[in-house]
Amino acid sequence: MKAQPEASHFIDGAFVEDKAGAPLEVLHPASGEVIARLHAATPALVDRALNAARRAQADWAARLPVERGRILRRAADIMRERNHELSVLETLDTGKPLQETLVADATSGADALEYFGGFAPTVTGQTVPQGRDFIYTLREPLGVCVGIGAWNYPTQIICWKTAPALAFGNAVVFKPSELTPLSALQVAAILTEAGLPAGLINVLQGFGDLGAALVSDPRVDKVSLTGSVPTGRKVYAAAAEGIRHVTMELGGKSPLIVFDDASLEDAVGGAMMANFYSSGQVCSNGTRVFVQRGMKDRFLDRLTARTEAIRLGDPLDEATQMGPLVSEAQMQKVMGYIEGARTEGARLVTGGQRLNRPGYYVAPTVFADVTDDMTIAREEVFGPVMSVLDFDDEDEVIARANATEFGLSAGVFTQDLARGHRVIGRLQAGSCWINAYNLTPVEAPFGGVKQSGVGRENGHAALEHYTQIKTVYVGMGPVDAPY
Ligand code: NDP
Repeated sequence: MKAQPEASHFIDGAFVEDKAGAPLEVLHPASGEVIARLHAATPALVDRALNAARRAQADWAARLPVERGRILRRAADIMRERNHELSVLETLDTGKPLQETLVADATSGADALEYFGGFAPTVTGQTVPQGRDFIYTLREPLGVCVGIGAWNYPTQIICWKTAPALAFGNAVVFKPSELTPLSALQVAAILTEAGLPAGLINVLQGFGDLGAALVSDPRVDKVSLTGSVPTGRKVYAAAAEGIRHVTMELGGKSPLIVFDDASLEDAVGGAMMANFYSSGQVCSNGTRVFVQRGMKDRFLDRLTARTEAIRLGDPLDEATQMGPLVSEAQMQKVMGYIEGARTEGARLVTGGQRLNRPGYYVAPTVFADVTDDMTIAREEVFGPVMSVLDFDDEDEVIARANATEFGLSAGVFTQDLARGHRVIGRLQAGSCWINAYNLTPVEAPFGGVKQSGVGRENGHAALEHYTQIKTVYVGMGPVDAPY
């Protein structure tokens, strides 16, 4: 299996290699096999990418918005035409099953390119009458935007950041996670093939130090990070030095509340979607599943039966429903949480072990009788591990659900819709669902509150985070000076 790209980086409209950079091996998580060998960007390449972005941005911003949008929409079409090929690459890189990547990665990226391509020409300012005078506002791009990605949704992450940035007239320098560097290069190549002028999308490979160098570079105007809270803290602080704009899409420990009037099948299906999709490596996962006591036994029985029927295996086989975790280190981390949960007294209902095969597989795991103070109920696991907690009444569960430093997502399953809206209204979270979970269409603003982040991706909200307002006061008469 090989997925070697033409070169490690994409700079100023072309693939670029510099073997002087530190080696970066890309492994297929289902086998541990090396599928590509890349090199981290040297300072000279970082310089080239940032200079190219700065140079290209002004002309791009001056283009008609409809022209910018047309290029993005063309890129969306190309991505859809190549969905199969891009999905196989994403599966090789991340280990996520093809069954998922075919419907959730390049397709989601294409949706973002199409949506923001259509959005670009609709952006307008305001006019504000001031008697004889008036004020108007203009939406201007920020300039050069740096994107830094996590490893769980590499194609989606570059597209969610790049599509609005480009649509509104910015240039982009993107650093993928060192674990999943491949698909971002293809997205950059596709944008270029669609007619994007050179310099507007640049992809640099590297480790955390490359991210840190980009965040503090004076040529950078905005940083958008998808990553963990500890990295978010560092990046936010570094960006603050230069008063740069930031979007932070960070981690979570989200509550999913199941009332005992909920449809059993829907609640179980929702909880599984909220914990097992992408082997549980989803930031918005509802990993604290609060189940009302009257539903508990039925819920656990059905959950166990459906969880034990999940097909794990080769992610390239379309029948496979769950693949490995992204890396050996992530698997060890998840196994550590599983051991810890047992020690702290959680009851293992199913799973809990590695699979006896090559690759970084952990069986889908359910713990019951989890209490709020257990580590597994407080920290983000980022693996296929569901914690089921019991509750009795609405006020109690809301207070417990909110007792976390995170605030990315929340979900409620109930057939009492008044209660569904009431409970969601009181939960401290940015992205919420009622009788659904983890659906994130591009039309919906996405992001967190509290330590889960600042800013929003997607929807109309993205405009706020990739443009700034220029206010122009126009005097129509003589200047009234008191001197
Ligand atoms: P990390 O925070 O470890 O890394 C995220 C990115 O930041 C990587 O590209 C990483 O590079 C880079 N980075 C690391 N250190 C620095 C630094 N000092 N300055 C700048 N960049 C740096 O996250 P993971 O990749 O482990 O991803 C998992 C996390 O991401 C989870 O916490 C998850 O919840 C969160 N996430 C949030 C999402 C959201 O939208 N809210 C969506 C998906 C994931 P490198 O990998 O090379 O070290």
